[in-house]
Amino acid sequence: LVLKVNGGVMPEETESGAWTEQVTAGRFSGRTIIVTGAASGIGRATASRIAREGGTVVAVDISADKLQEFAGTFPEGQVVPVAADVTKQDDLDRVIAAAGDRIDGLANVAGVNDDFSPLHETSDQIWDRVIGINLTGVFKLTRAVLPKMLEAGRGSVVNVASEAGIRGNASGNAYTVSKHGVVGLTRSAAFMYGPKGIRVNAVAPGGVATGIPFPPNVSEAGSARLAPFQQMIPGLATAEQLAASITFLLSEDGTNINGVVLPSDGGWSVQ
Ligand code: NAD
Repeated sequence: LVLKVNGGVMPEETESGAWTEQVTAGRFSGRTIIVTGAASGIGRATASRIAREGGTVVAVDISADKLQEFAGTFPEGQVVPVAADVTKQDDLDRVIAAAGDRIDGLANVAGVNDDFSPLHETSDQIWDRVIGINLTGVFKLTRAVLPKMLEAGRGSVVNVASEAGIRGNASGNAYTVSKHGVVGLTRSAAFMYGPKGIRVNAVAPGGVATGIPFPPNVSEAGSARLAPFQQMIPGLATAEQLAASITFLLSEDGTNINGVVLPSDGGWSVQ
């Protein structure tokens, strides 16, 4: 089943008849959007979709080589790579400078989830690192884009939270706390800046097939945690499916939506 969107390019229908990605030509024309975590997974798929829909992307990632390689697949100037660590203010200053005069949108996608220690074994170092990248990084870059958005009287910010940002989760403690923080930041910023024309929303993925590891008790085959999810959809989501949810909220399609935390999880959060 393929949906024809106004101005879009009709893709080939797949043999299985499954929904396929529908790029809407020009949805981001004339827009400049910053995307973090753009070298891989969900961030890369999001940056790619924005660029293919006519936007200019300031692509941010700590992984300089992968970022350069990705940007090189687009026409000169469409995807502007800025190797940066979202926890470092000097790096974020370079990101803002690279965006130039206008910043229409920001997708805070960069994140880590590589420690699954129980709380009593979580070191200060792990805590500070995970909270620093997943939460403080989102705060710092959002803070940095707001002056230009306030000046323009418009803007859209989409933060990538997680199912772990909505309820207790098998993911690491620092991770779960960081994503709950992202949800709180999203809601408070939406409340504060909505009246000024700036929307702030979040997407909460369930399981997505990317480089980010799953907690052992989730990834084990047949685990009780994953079983209801597997019954609902045939497998993990793709990065492109998450990019579709993120760009929906980022774009003009989402103009009536502010302060939501949108589960994009195939229905996992229903249980
Ligand atoms: P990924 O590992 O493929 O991508 C994350 C990207 O963030 C990488 O390119 C990495 O280099 C970058 N990054 C890490 N630290 C950084 C830093 N300090 N500064 C700049 N960039 C940095 O993983 P993904 O699955 O695409 O994850 C994207 C987001 O989605 C994360 O916030 C993650 O928590 C969230 N998420 C993922 C899943 C999933 O199942 N994959 C589920 C829920 C939420």
